[in-house]
Amino acid sequence: MALPDAAKSQVTAIVAGLDNVYERMARACQRAGRRANEVTLVGVTKTFPLETIAAALAAGLQDFGENRPQELEAKARATPPGVCRYHLIGHLQRNKARIAIRYAHLFHALDSLRLADALNQRAQSEGRVLPCLVQVNVSAESTKFGVPPAETHRFLETLASKEHLRIQGLMTLAAPTAEPEEVRPQFRKMRQLLAAAPLPEMTTLSMGMSGDFEVAIEEGATHIRVGSAIFGPRIH
Ligand SMILES: *Cc1c(COP(=O)(O)O)cnc(C)c1O
Repeated sequence: MALPDAAKSQVTAIVAGLDNVYERMARACQRAGRRANEVTLVGVTKTFPLETIAAALAAGLQDFGENRPQELEAKARATPPGVCRYHLIGHLQRNKARIAIRYAHLFHALDSLRLADALNQRAQSEGRVLPCLVQVNVSAESTKFGVPPAETHRFLETLASKEHLRIQGLMTLAAPTAEPEEVRPQFRKMRQLLAAAPLPEMTTLSMGMSGDFEVAIEEGATHIRVGSAIFGPRIH
């Protein structure tokens, strides 16, 4: 399978969506006294077909977020090597470790020691190092994956010995809300957790989605994961 040709009308729609998001990112950076190039936009293409990836590439996007490993694998295999950076932003089961190792530019959802062991072993046998973020359940919702904030530093310490994982930072999903100001304390807590992290070279903070990315940027996000604000609503 290969990437289809990009449809012109779809490229135009995505360029408009990107322009709008970049503009809002720039204003949020300005309010926070940050440079615009400090924040990476990951376009979340989950559930969208390969046509959307082709159009987004034509519109200039380079970073793509997928939450299902098999979907990420299928899309990565259809894309010429070195063209897209695929971010695995959803929960991963240990028996899918191979997919993260082979195809993920950055794995955002490391949340257990058992998974870390599986990834570390698999990365070692494939001669790779996997860049990872630890997912923190900062909103403490029982339905969400992630390490509780109070256990995050202890968890990070146990990861120090995993030589084939490069722990670059933290990721979170804030509680869903119609009022982004409400989740500011959650984002601020993430920044504090990162600042006090016990491992070196942890500089990445992946937080903020379509509904709350401006607040996330104001609170220090280095990667925002934005789907519907660029690509429109998802059907399923
Ligand atoms: C779907 C998803 C997003 C993007 O959500 P939007 O509201 O469409 O921007 C971000 N992060 C994760 C982990 C997701 O699963």
